[in-house]
Amino acid sequence: MTDNEPIIDTSGLVKQYGGIAALQGVDFSVDRGELHCIIGPNGAGKSTFFKLLMGIERPTAGAIHYKGRDVTSLGSFERARLGFSVKFQNIRVYPDLTVYHNLFIPLRRHHRMKKIPGQVAELLGELRLSGTENETVSNLSHGQIQWLAIGMSIAAEPEVLLLDEPTAGMSDDETRETAEIIRRLSATGMTILVIEHDMAFIRDLNTRTTVLHYGRLFAQGTFSEIEANEEVHQIYLGTL
Ligand code: ATP
Repeated sequence: MTDNEPIIDTSGLVKQYGGIAALQGVDFSVDRGELHCIIGPNGAGKSTFFKLLMGIERPTAGAIHYKGRDVTSLGSFERARLGFSVKFQNIRVYPDLTVYHNLFIPLRRHHRMKKIPGQVAELLGELRLSGTENETVSNLSHGQIQWLAIGMSIAAEPEVLLLDEPTAGMSDDETRETAEIIRRLSATGMTILVIEHDMAFIRDLNTRTTVLHYGRLFAQGTFSEIEANEEVHQIYLGTL
């Protein structure tokens, strides 16, 4: 991979579910280290796009390249090994275990035993969860559980992190803190793709943004450009 080659590149990505065309030929790329938001009305194809990127489902047509390598036929396990990680909306934490043990489980796959306490402390600091290590997860707030799930997703130090609606169900304060956490992770050089509905949050992230609509790439630009785009307003209002 050369420096100016995108880390992820999709070409002509199509996903057909029976008669439903969830994606109709998406050409998309993201640069190494970029923080990028993907928005679009309900049913636009955002989750489908993430599933194809993660290798959970295969495209009907088109290709996905990662660092110049064609990964279209690789499954999610192989893509995770190459450096992909995803945090879905329906998070998978262990509610009856402590915060420490929730992080211990993914960390243990990648680190020696003696390094784990330090790694947990570092993650908890990044995630605004310092001091909660001995709490049972079911006692945490909704926002804290979401942050813990992000922590579990980054325990393997992925190169690419996909976040599916990270602020769903959060209070305004938790949403602002989530933007702060994502900015901090982005500053470490991690490539981060975020699907979101919450416009205030996307405005806060203020980064390159792609709009999907009916399974197609409808618009792309800085958040200010997207916010000023009259047609984008119309698709959200349902008039386009
Ligand atoms: P939302 O914002 O509501 O989550 P989205 O932009 O993530 O929507 P997708 O969930 O990717 O959109 O769905 C795109 C289209 O594909 C929709 O019409 C949806 O009903 C359809 N679809 C998604 N998954 C399946 C499936 N497994 N089987 C059949 N149709 C599906």
